[in-house]
Amino acid sequence: MAAEAKHFKYVVLGGGVAAVSVPSSHLVGFSPFHPHRAWELTQRLLAPVSQGYAAREFANQGLNPGELAIISKEPVAPYERPALSKGYLFPQSKSVLIAKCSAACLMILCSRHGFSLTPDACPLVNRSRKTARVIKLTDFGVQGAESNNILYLRDLADADKLVAAMQAKKDGKAVIVGGGYIGLELSAALKINNFDVTMVYPEPWCMPRLFTSGIAHFYEGYYANKGIKIVKGTVAVGFDADANGDVTAVKLKDGRVLETDIVIVGVGGRPLTALFKGQVDEEKGGLKTDAFFETSVPGVYAIGDVATFPLKLYNEQRRVEHVDHARKSAEQAVRAIKAKESGESVAEYDYLPYFYSRSFDVAWQFYGDNVGDDVLFGDNDPASAKPKFGSYWVKDGKVVGVFLEGGSAEENQAIARVARAQPAVTDVEALKQEGLEFAAKV
Ligand code: FAD
Ligand code: NDP
Repeated sequence: MAAEAKHFKYVVLGGGVAAVSVPSSHLVGFSPFHPHRAWELTQRLLAPVSQGYAAREFANQGLNPGELAIISKEPVAPYERPALSKGYLFPQSKSVLIAKCSAACLMILCSRHGFSLTPDACPLVNRSRKTARVIKLTDFGVQGAESNNILYLRDLADADKLVAAMQAKKDGKAVIVGGGYIGLELSAALKINNFDVTMVYPEPWCMPRLFTSGIAHFYEGYYANKGIKIVKGTVAVGFDADANGDVTAVKLKDGRVLETDIVIVGVGGRPLTALFKGQVDEEKGGLKTDAFFETSVPGVYAIGDVATFPLKLYNEQRRVEHVDHARKSAEQAVRAIKAKESGESVAEYDYLPYFYSRSFDVAWQFYGDNVGDDVLFGDNDPASAKPKFGSYWVKDGKVVGVFLEGGSAEENQAIARVARAQPAVTDVEALKQEGLEFAAKV
């Protein structure tokens, strides 16, 4: 029996933090169960990005019942993804409730504002299942990488699998592959869950894309003091498993073998653009947009991790895989769509990159660009009772980026101001001595 076709003024594709939206003139009606309509939708809708903040902004701007649909691969309402690697994994965490609560709240919001949430609903969605979001070790044919309890973390289903594995292997051993965001946040979460944790990564220090050696010195020392073992300069090349298929050991390229009960892999992700190949212009691995997040197909917008957009401050096209941009790009795109409808205009997106992380009782923030010469300041001794340190990045005589560990809300606002204002610096040694006081004066 053919399902009834549904028509929406706007469709948000993806149920994550941000989402893609398509205004009325370009929207095709579609039925979640009708292949032809779904194909039409594929032609028009691009970019599984984020959704929650786009939907919220549509509601803020004024939405009639039945105008907006969210198509989500995940069977739950949009949620704050960063919680997955933090509170959601802690023993007796209230975050489990918060995550479920916020989903329920969104459901209520949906019904009040006339959203339809279409989880796991159409062939388009089912097709996407074949496309990995997280980079997996099976992608490289690593021997034994399909064993049980070799885990990844991108969505709620992954987090639930991880929680189940932690319960099944209580007080066991965990090896974390990768020294990026997932590696650092998950090592801490597993340690807090009383696992014996070893991190493995190929680089000379953790998070080399952002951290300088001086910054990494602190976090590696701090993690070591928490009892986490760190193995650098090598990679996992194979896994052993028992008769049940459960992983038992990680084989490293340098010949070492690490016994383990759980492996968590965080070696990066890729935007899901394969679905849109040949339909939308791409750049730097993402869907190319203008300063309003409109792609090369008029009426089709890409936001969040998947968008390669003009970063006005640095005069270049960039992709940003962080939640602050997911939220702000969603809001910018929806405002631009609504402004276009009413013949008005909105200002170009003028984003100041902002990244953050926290684990155990340390927390850092970074604003701007980490290019040029780095200037470390403050106390980065991992054994300090109250460590507080940071780094400025100076390029062409101007401060263009600032990192701060342990900052107060006011101090973090101060470093954001510095990264935006890009004050001139003539004496780098004086900047090092002044440290945070320099930021406070801007
Ligand atoms: P997502 O939130 O990934 O949403 C994309 C959605 O699209 C998903 O729901 C996906 O299932 C769906 N989808 C994919 N394909 C299709 C399709 N064909 N049809 C329908 N739906 C589809 N950033 C920070 O700044 N700070 C943090 O502390 C932080 N913590 C993080 C912790 C974890 C565990 C992870 C994985 C990421 C974290 N990030 C953090 C990054 C941040 O969550 C992302 O930048 C943000 O979620 C991007 O939003 P998005 O909407 O673009 O993508
Ligand atoms: P990242 O890109 O942050 O880190 C992956 C790290 O793994 C890189 O240092 C990479 O090195 C290294 N690596 C690559 N291949 C291997 C390998 N075979 N063995 C060991 N290490 C390897 O990705 P994550 O997986 O940590 O995070 C995934 C996504 O989630 C990102 O978009 C991230 O921004 C987001 N996220 C953000 C958080 C936050 O902002 N607080 C928290 C959690 C996730 P190289 O650089 O040389 O490729």
